[in-house]
Parts: sequence; structure tokens; C-alpha cells
Amino acid sequence: MISNPIFRILQKTVQTGMVTIGYPGTPAPPAVRFRGAPSFDFDNWHDARPAAEVCPTEAISIEEWEDSRQVTVDYGLCVYCGQCAEADPFGAVRTTREFELAALDRRDLIVTAEYTLNSDGTHRGLTQVHQGHEPVEEAEQRAKQKLADRIHRVLGRSLDIREVDAGSCNGCEVEITALNNPVYDLERFGMHFVASPRHADMLLVTGPVTRNMELALLKTYRATPDPKVVVAVGACGISGGIFGRNYATLGGVDQVIPVDVFVPGCPPRPLALLHGILLAVGRMERKGLPR
Ligand code: SF4
Repeated sequence: MISNPIFRILQKTVQTGMVTIGYPGTPAPPAVRFRGAPSFDFDNWHDARPAAEVCPTEAISIEEWEDSRQVTVDYGLCVYCGQCAEADPFGAVRTTREFELAALDRRDLIVTAEYTLNSDGTHRGLTQVHQGHEPVEEAEQRAKQKLADRIHRVLGRSLDIREVDAGSCNGCEVEITALNNPVYDLERFGMHFVASPRHADMLLVTGPVTRNMELALLKTYRATPDPKVVVAVGACGISGGIFGRNYATLGGVDQVIPVDVFVPGCPPRPLALLHGILLAVGRMERKGLPR
């Protein structure tokens, strides 16, 4: 039995060993109780109405005509509550353990399916599924790529991040804080959190952007030197989430400043944040939506 506290700490350290995960080099399975984004089997979805009715953020929305229905699923609004899966009697909606949903374009988080309808309102047939944005002009694409290459060249190796809470519930902050612990260890990528936007390369912004934080966010953005990237964190940061747009909130970071990467989740787990940050600086690829 070692009585000296210093030796006890050293003994525990040796016994515990290395706890840092190898992500993204090696996959990091989510915790057993983790619930990720829902997936939708559009081909076999007999009726979208029950799921749309229970969705608390209107991430599933419906537009109907006489004999057809358009169903839109917006992962930028989804809070991963799983209620749509519980409400769907046919099992076409299920919860997954997917978390790497970060996207460079807001429109890439939206899927639209169109159905013809039976007389009772159930789906007769799927006519089309559309995901993401239309291809942009080649010149625009080239300009975007050039800018992205420059950002990746300058920021790809070392990155200073300024976190901005623009009115969040602090759920995202809890997950962001975890990035600094020995398990996720953000510093192994040469990335650090800094106190001043003047020292930052990236703004990691949470919250639906309250009107009281609008000016502060704008000033923070202007104080950050170019080239800079902005990451909108969580359903609130992307779309206002459960708060949406109202008398007190503006409905997402891109309502105030340009956003480069959108990281869905409520809150996004640390690995989802890591994926989004690495995607922003060109060190990871986009994975796409769950199927
Ligand atoms: S998991 Fe997402 S889509 Fe499903 S009900 Fe919850 S918020 Fe809506």
C-alpha cells in the first residue's frame, strides 16, 4: 500500500495508461447509450404524417397537394430526439449512431422526398428523392476551391479557435470543453482555444444567436484576422434549433456572419465537433447523411 499521495497519483497514471482515442485514424465507437441522427427509408415510408406531427423542431415538414406530398427532412433542425422513429409504425424511420454529419453547405443537410398519395393520405409511391444543392457554376466552384485551398494551406497545420457563445443553453459548451480532455485531446492536432478573436483562425459559434448577442458576434467576426473560418455548432447554431427565429433569437449563425461548416447535433458530441473542425481545414472528408 503506497501512502505518499504523489506516488499514489503516479501509480494511478501508470495503471490507467493512455486514454486518448485514435480518431480519426481509427474509428471511435460511440457510447452505448448514444443516440445519433435518424435515418429515413424513403422507399418504404408509408406515411410521413405521424413523424412530422411529433417532431419538436419541424425538422420533418410536409407540404401537400391533392394527390401528392412533399416531405422535407432538415438535419440542420434535428435535435436527435428519436421521436420520429418511435412514432413511425412501419419502421421506415430509425435512430442511428451516426454523428459525422458536418457539411460545408447548409443545403447539404436537407433531403426532400415526393410521394403520390392514396385516398387515406398514406404514400402510394415515391416519385423522387432530392438531397443537397444543385451543382454550382464551374467558375464559382473554382473560386471556392481556390479560397478553400488557401485556407487549408494557411490553417491546415495549426489552428487557434475562439469559441463564441451566441446564446446557447451551454449544452454545446459542455461538449466543446470535452475536446480539451485527455480522451479527445484537441491539442494533438496542433489546435488550441484562445481568449481573443484577434489571435484566432476559427470561430466556433454556438447558440441560436440572441438579438443581444448579434452585435457582439459581428464585432468578434470583424476582429478575427483573415483568412478565417466559421463553424456553426449544433442545431441552434445552424437554424435556431428548438428556439427557431423569434422576438429574441435570429435563427442561426449564418443570419449574422458567413458560415463555412455546419455541425449538426443537439449538442454535437466531441467527435462530431472534431469532424467538423477537421472538415473546415481540409483534414477530413464529408461523410454524408445516414441511409
Ligand atoms: S430525431 Fe430529429 S427529425 Fe426525428 S423527431 Fe427528433 S428532431 Fe425531429
